[in-house]
Amino acid sequence: MENNKEPRMINHKSTSFKKMNSIRTSTKIIGFYLVFGFAWILLSDQIILRLFTDQDTLNYVQSVKGIFYVLFTALVFYGIIQKQLSLYVLTILDLKNAYEELDLGHRKSVDLENKLFNLAYYDDLTGLPNKILLEQTINQYASEHANDGVIGFVYFDIDEFRNINEVKGHSVGDQLIKEVADSLKEAIKPPNMLARLGGDEFILAFFDMDDIETFVPLVESYFEMIRKTYILDEDDFFITFSAGVALYPDHGTDYITLMRHADAAVSIAKSKGKDQIVIFDEEMVSMIKQQTEILNQLRQAIPNNEFSLHYQPIINLADDKLSGVEALIRWHHPVKGFIPPLEFISLSEKNGYIKEITEWVFKEAASQYDAWNMKGKRFKISINISAIMLMNDSFIPNLNKWVFESKIDCSKVTLEITETAIISDIEKSIHVLKQIKKMGFNIALDDFGTGYSSLTYLQKLPIDIIKIDRTFISNIHPDTEEFHVLKYMIDLAHHLKLVVVAEGIENLEQYNMMKKYYVDFAQGYYFCKPMPQNRVLEYIKSL
Ligand code: C2E
Ligand code: CA
Ligand code: CA
Repeated sequence: MENNKEPRMINHKSTSFKKMNSIRTSTKIIGFYLVFGFAWILLSDQIILRLFTDQDTLNYVQSVKGIFYVLFTALVFYGIIQKQLSLYVLTILDLKNAYEELDLGHRKSVDLENKLFNLAYYDDLTGLPNKILLEQTINQYASEHANDGVIGFVYFDIDEFRNINEVKGHSVGDQLIKEVADSLKEAIKPPNMLARLGGDEFILAFFDMDDIETFVPLVESYFEMIRKTYILDEDDFFITFSAGVALYPDHGTDYITLMRHADAAVSIAKSKGKDQIVIFDEEMVSMIKQQTEILNQLRQAIPNNEFSLHYQPIINLADDKLSGVEALIRWHHPVKGFIPPLEFISLSEKNGYIKEITEWVFKEAASQYDAWNMKGKRFKISINISAIMLMNDSFIPNLNKWVFESKIDCSKVTLEITETAIISDIEKSIHVLKQIKKMGFNIALDDFGTGYSSLTYLQKLPIDIIKIDRTFISNIHPDTEEFHVLKYMIDLAHHLKLVVVAEGIENLEQYNMMKKYYVDFAQGYYFCKPMPQNRVLEYIKSL
């Protein structure tokens, strides 16, 4: 702005300077003219009278003198007028320049204003409206539609985004955010709005929603567009999203409240296993409060000896004998009683306490295994490893340390890793799994069949066992499509020389079916539920 003012001031000065100059010159000319005129009047007649005596000649010279005077006067006037005119022309030119500079300055300041506007209201990376613009839009809508408006406020983020950032670096993380934004940008039309809050967090605000029955499938259709495999830095990542929905006016009549409630719904979506849309309801507020309480109390669980391990037998279907046991953690809360692992494992992943839990489980399972071994019992033991642990760079050094401290024979231990943990970054997983295998562990791909990826990656993974998920088994009836998929899974696994374990066998029919299709091992309530260590030996005797 300063720059624009400067040249205009100089021009203004130069114009007044020229004006002064011209006045001075004009005054000089007039002065000279007056002096010359008086001198001419006083002197010319005397000189002529001295020079010429003849009347005719005198008359003639007087006429010439008059003509000369007229011409001279005209010349003087011409000079003055010319001077004035050029001054006017210059002034007009100056004015024109000044106007152009003013216009340029104006355009520049409009540009600057636009830039400042964009900076204040739009996100740099994606070009999407930011939190401030979203907040203003929502609050303005709320004030204009106090009685007749409806907004579907969808808050969502990318599942496991932290992993991608950690493993691939921030620029790859940014690339993913941009790709997600670009795909949705095309589909979201005004008055609806897609905004980025920062990080991997977005808001979809629907100002034209009719009713919740049509709204939810609509939101789902948007998520279907972005829930897919992304190629990031030459690696495939299957990306899912967790979303929380709050509705205006039912769940809040201003931005802050809608945001808070949608956020609560997102945390519920996360704790229920991610990759889903959850609609807010009032109960969630107390649920979130409870979760926070649990998180705080979780830290005391190890020092207070509140954890224990239960073991679920894994049966060899060839001879119905025990092949191994899976260690499953239990938390006996002093006030709330028994809290199931699904309720606290994902919470502990959030605050990093999973590392302490995994270490405790590993050492406890190892010492129990040692005790059984001393009694001459030979079976294997399986330990669950959370996805977050696997992807953490400190996992392999920690695992080495735990093995060293517990002196366990790794070949008798199976580490169970969920399928979803692996497909979130196959290349990194392969790298980590190879190191685990080198240490001598067996590796089982847990909850197999719940992921979305193709089976083709199976041959790339250095694993020994697949554990077909319980939900898959419970849906199985001959002649259904799932049944054919299951048969294909078993055949493929065997073809790849993998051992197949079926989880969640609950009845004779399922047991028979697994035997018929050559599943190697099975686990489930049909055989027995997970039990404390002291009952395992009794169970073995009963077989
Ligand atoms: P998972 O690894 O798939 O473990 C099997 C779960 O299925 C266990 O639930 C088990 O009790 C249950 N189950 C076994 N047979 C049947 C059956 O026939 N019918 C039904 N309905 N359920 C059956 P649990 O113990 O509640 O564990 C749930 C999940 O929590 C586990 O699923 C595992 O992902 C996680 N978890 C348990 N212990 C640990 C642990 O020490 N570390 C980690 N990271 N995760 C653990
Ligand atoms: Ca398991
Ligand atoms: Ca499982």
